Amino acid sequence: KTQEINTDLLIIGAGPGGYVAAIYAAKKGLKVTLIEKEELGGTCLNVGCIPTKALVKSSEVCHTVRHSSYFGIEAGSALEINMKQIIRRKDEVKDKLISGIGYLMEQNEIQVIRGQASFLSNKQVCVTGEMKTYISAKDIVIATGSKISKVNIPGINLPFVMNSTDALSCTDLPTSITIIGGGVIGMEFAFIYRNLGVEVHVVEFMDRLLTMLDDDISDELKQAAEQAGIHIYTGAKVSKIQRANNGHAIVSYEARDGEHLLVSEKVLVAIGREPNMDGLNLEQAGIQLNERGRGIAVDHQMHTNVEHIYAIGDVTNIIQLAHVASHQGITAVDAILGEDAVMHYTAVPNVIFTSPEIASVGLLERECQQQGIDYCLSKVSFSSNGKALTMNEPHGFIKLIKDTNTGKIVGGSIIGPDAASLISSLTLAIANELTEQQIRETIFAHPTTGEVLHEAAFGLSIGALHQA
Ligand code: FAD
Repeated sequence: KTQEINTDLLIIGAGPGGYVAAIYAAKKGLKVTLIEKEELGGTCLNVGCIPTKALVKSSEVCHTVRHSSYFGIEAGSALEINMKQIIRRKDEVKDKLISGIGYLMEQNEIQVIRGQASFLSNKQVCVTGEMKTYISAKDIVIATGSKISKVNIPGINLPFVMNSTDALSCTDLPTSITIIGGGVIGMEFAFIYRNLGVEVHVVEFMDRLLTMLDDDISDELKQAAEQAGIHIYTGAKVSKIQRANNGHAIVSYEARDGEHLLVSEKVLVAIGREPNMDGLNLEQAGIQLNERGRGIAVDHQMHTNVEHIYAIGDVTNIIQLAHVASHQGITAVDAILGEDAVMHYTAVPNVIFTSPEIASVGLLERECQQQGIDYCLSKVSFSSNGKALTMNEPHGFIKLIKDTNTGKIVGGSIIGPDAASLISSLTLAIANELTEQQIRETIFAHPTTGEVLHEAAFGLSIGALHQA
């Protein structure tokens, strides 16, 4: 059975890039067809952002209950972790959001076709699903996302080795786990497991954790992780994984001082993701990849080298974040409609849901140094913030960077309570080129953790008011 469709805009992939572009285009009056081979919501909703944050919440509840007596709440000693319920709740959240996207597709009259898309030419795509669908479109957006990178470590296929997708549906809580990779996904899982009481080891190849952050932020996180009882091994290259006689895993890693072994019940590999172009047949449409051959090459309006074909999100390998994918989708639709929107990457917030949370936006301190920017910075800790103390989360700080010549805030990082939410105000400030003075002159509500941001702006001139 086959069918043929003609549409204005064809979008391949219904992740946060593709489905947001679809809604935006439909609202702007285009006839939109969206193709998805798995579930609506893509990696983000199914096996990424949302499921991990549901687990983060459960693990934080566990941590709070464990430490509740400090708050005057005696929860008793019989704390029990029901991993099946943790996973069930995660699925409930995810399913609710997926059905919400389905509803939005209907309401915006977006035609959703299930199946695997591949190019027949630069104007036509074939979708293989329950039936074959041939779709011709005036414009095409590729939003096929990313997939877990394959790693060549001997023993990687042993049954106790998981990737992030496996971990998100694993209903057995291990007593101990070795996490290979101290990046964003690895560290989020490290705190999830640790807060649930698991013995956690993190092995990182680089000399530090979370290398996309300024050193003082990643040092602070390392300290928080070690205080929480997470064992961190940096500058450590995993060479093999083996099975011990009792069925546990033995992870061997090489460090400067020689070879070491770690024994744990499970292993989680969190090494990275790469653009997913599987089965797309890009060569049929003449679409070029970027210089490194990893990801589809695009310009600032998300055009590929082929007229009327665009690419957005993880498949472009520019920045692997859901909100970047969505923003690129909106930019591509604007370009299709002849508007002159372009992607700017100067104020992209980046959040890591560890305990404490971390968030950063704009330039890092080392980028200011590399670019020869005349800058000054202030660092204000949460330790004297009233709200942070009521939450019993007085650790961490906010760091603001100002361009000394213009007075504008060019970058900032937060490690501490509410970092994930606080970064939005800072993003607004940097995206709109606000100066330290404008932030100082803004009224911040009391008592909130946001006041630390206000204080940090004072820190860039006369000095923070609540710090000696
Ligand atoms: P995807 O979400 O990957 O969606 C692509 C879709 O295309 C998929 O549904 C796929 O099935 C479909 N598809 C692929 N090929 C075809 C084809 N040929 N035909 C039809 N359909 C196809 N980002 C954040 O911003 N915040 C976070 O907290 C965060 N946490 C994460 C945690 C984990 C564990 C992981 C793995 C990722 C996380 N990310 C996070 C990253 C985020 O998920 C991605 O950046 C985001 O999903 C990219 O969106 P996308 O639309 O480009 O692609």
